[in-house]
Amino acid sequence: MGERLDGTVALVTGASSGIGEAAARELARQGAAVALVARRKDRLDALAAEITAAGAAAITVEADVTDQALAVAAVERTVAELGRLDTVVNNAGVMLLGPILGAPTEEWDRMVRLNVQGLLYVAHAALPHLVEAAAGEPRRVADLVNISSVAGRRAAAFSGVYNLTKHGVNAFTESLRQEVTERHVRISVVEPGAVETELADHLRPEIREVSRQRFANVEMLHAQDIADAIAYIVTRPRRAAINEILIRPTNQP
Ligand code: NDP
Repeated sequence: MGERLDGTVALVTGASSGIGEAAARELARQGAAVALVARRKDRLDALAAEITAAGAAAITVEADVTDQALAVAAVERTVAELGRLDTVVNNAGVMLLGPILGAPTEEWDRMVRLNVQGLLYVAHAALPHLVEAAAGEPRRVADLVNISSVAGRRAAAFSGVYNLTKHGVNAFTESLRQEVTERHVRISVVEPGAVETELADHLRPEIREVSRQRFANVEMLHAQDIADAIAYIVTRPRRAAINEILIRPTNQP
């Protein structure tokens, strides 16, 4: 039903685990050559080996995307080694929940630096290449998919700064969409509910326990469910832009 991605190049941030790993694997399966970006090089290398063994092309780019120079270098290396850039999945993110009152503000800094600034740096560096890809073969369309969250649509207690970053991602996505959509660069946002990944591992132990109890009866999404949504977006024909996908576990209220 979708158009394959043969001859195109995709860059995925946060490809060393969870949603990013599943997305990179899926885009490679659809025919894209993939650049795998994150800090844990051993994990990226293992995924690249798996993708290459399955017959697709993959490179690993060890980078902390909160450092603008490294974010730019990741994009430029991708274009230098793989020849172009058609698809970006701006996925790297961190969720540090807890009350605002008395919060360790270094957690806020980490979320703002990665979920907002890192995402912006990658988008800024990638955009000229996406515009160029959309003007030529093989597909004459390019995609930037930002990974937000249900938390980007609905604020809740104990999620304030994570809400702030993800609401920001949604607003930025819509603004950029209006700016470049007539050039056939599609800007999309995916908003997952609870997905079984390493995301909650970074919570403080007492918060992790509260979160675990809150989701104890929820049949969590798999990273592949989100990868499928991303693949759906980027394999649409040129005429169709999927602006937004909100996907929750069925029994998550
Ligand atoms: P994971 O913790 O499994 O993945 C996070 C990824 O981000 C890792 O690959 C990590 O790799 C990478 N990363 C972290 N810091 C940096 C950095 N400074 N530079 C580059 N990469 C970095 O979590 P998920 O897969 O769940 O999260 C992916 C996205 O999905 C996030 O934006 C998250 O907010 C969003 N999301 C997740 C939900 C869930 O329930 N899981 C729900 C809604 C949204 P490394 O440590 O190797 O750098």
